Amino acid sequence: MIRTTRHSYIFALLAFFAAAIGFALPVAAQDKMELRTVTDGVYMMQNDRGSSNASFVITPDGVVVLDADLRTADQVLAQIRKLTDKKVKYLITSHSAGDHASGAWQYREDKPVFIATKTQMRDLYMQEGKEFAERKKTDEVYKVSELVRPDLGFEGSMTLQFGGLTFILTEEGVGHSTSDVTVFIPQKRVMLMGDLLDTEIHPGQGESAGVFYSNVKGWTHSLDNIIARNLPVDTYVPGHGPVHIGRGVADLQEQKRYFIVMRDEVSKLMKAGKSLAEIEKTIEVPKEFAHYQRKPRLVSFVKLFYYQTIEQGY
Ligand SMILES: [Zn+2]
Repeated sequence: MIRTTRHSYIFALLAFFAAAIGFALPVAAQDKMELRTVTDGVYMMQNDRGSSNASFVITPDGVVVLDADLRTADQVLAQIRKLTDKKVKYLITSHSAGDHASGAWQYREDKPVFIATKTQMRDLYMQEGKEFAERKKTDEVYKVSELVRPDLGFEGSMTLQFGGLTFILTEEGVGHSTSDVTVFIPQKRVMLMGDLLDTEIHPGQGESAGVFYSNVKGWTHSLDNIIARNLPVDTYVPGHGPVHIGRGVADLQEQKRYFIVMRDEVSKLMKAGKSLAEIEKTIEVPKEFAHYQRKPRLVSFVKLFYYQTIEQGY
């Protein structure tokens, strides 16, 4: 009897630990970052869930990183450490959203120079700073971290010559966010797009602290501007979704076409007298984009297409 009781006790203990591990596993499994080699020395860490992709470039003088989500930047740094003993010297953000600009703290050991636009910098003092403070109350990762704000703020464009490479930072305007930045590395024939490019998924609405920022007119305008540069680029690296190595400008054209086609669908339903609620329920994704993942994201864009068409015509 005593043995059985003891066994029951041990079993209960094991069950407790199993449950504890069971609870821990989904958290640990969340937002896994997988390494993709874009080209020699240029890598993208692909996120499989709600966080963003991050990119890094290894040079003889150190590493340049684009985008850092506090929840996943530790995985990116661990991968960098596996590939090189060089320090992270520069951190650049494509825009100020938490999934791209909250994680500079994870690189604190290397003390990189953190570069952002002046608008992104302001966002990190305002709504993004507020969101970080809010998350600190509930999120375990945020609780033990601090918001690290940019060291350098620029407007328009900036060129960084580092490690034998040229990094051309361009503030493309207001599209996905308040200030979207791309990074073109001509020697590598690569352009890092941030969230101006999402692949194989419905694009995300820029949001922080409950305020929405995306603007379809600005977004397509930014894509037009980039396409019109006719850049010598093999691969445009997306902010979310898989990287299409060597697909070139076709990725940007597809992203632009998505907005035009989806806005057209909403407009047709508006002409047919449908309300926004009816459009949200009945809209069908055309065949070309039917394979896109994360369909719930479409809802916020249907609203955007609807109101922006009424307000501005397109
Ligand atoms: Zn994002």
